Amino acid sequence: MKLFLAILLGVSPITASAQGVPPIPWAPHDSTRPPPPVVRPAPGPAGPWSPPSDAIVLFGGTDLSSWRAPRDSGAARWRVVDGAVEVVPGTGDIESRQGFGDCQLHIEWMAPSPRSGEGQEPGNSGVYLMGRYEVQVLDSYQNQTYADGMAAAMYGQYPPLVNASRPPGEWQTYDIVFRHPGFDARGRLRTPAYVTVIHNGVLVQDHVPLTGPTAHGRRPPYEAHPDRLPLRLQDHGQRVRFRNIWIRNLEGP
Ligand code: MG
Repeated sequence: MKLFLAILLGVSPITASAQGVPPIPWAPHDSTRPPPPVVRPAPGPAGPWSPPSDAIVLFGGTDLSSWRAPRDSGAARWRVVDGAVEVVPGTGDIESRQGFGDCQLHIEWMAPSPRSGEGQEPGNSGVYLMGRYEVQVLDSYQNQTYADGMAAAMYGQYPPLVNASRPPGEWQTYDIVFRHPGFDARGRLRTPAYVTVIHNGVLVQDHVPLTGPTAHGRRPPYEAHPDRLPLRLQDHGQRVRFRNIWIRNLEGP
């Protein structure tokens, strides 16, 4: 029936959705998109989470040797303080020296307290899988912004299922499962990237198919890229801290 209607209307059911990914029925950053309900996470972990034996520790609390500045591949210029790495505004993003594709990532972050600013400002940073696909970092505790730009949103694409944010000044966790997109020999998309995110122990992204790289105000199409690329953390001018960053490489499918 669907196919018949599509033929009747002269639209292909295949091209109707960009590159096989179902269209998102909201424009990027639509302010009328309803905010997800608030969920109160369990009290934070008492201490740092220990990485499992097969994890690659990207930041264990002391040094930034696994990181570099993407601009010039020189040393990462953020500062290490109290077992955490803190954004030094204006120094730019940092990225892992190693590339990753399919992976499980654990990362903890804390927005500055007291809060300054509102909306997209307080505690803004980002976890960019493959340097392209951003899980938003933002102080979204009792702080309203467009739904697809709040904490744990896939920026500009999917709001989190619920708002599991902790207040600024408290550590928060992201546990992320990422599947990289696949491209054929001619660079056409074969399978989109998929992301699952658990925020403070609460499922907030459930295997969502990305429409392409994340961006502000638009949804650019995929461009073919290697199966492994560096993980990037965003300098958005806010002194956000990160700690206990570890990652596990996953096999296919
Ligand atoms: Mg951001």
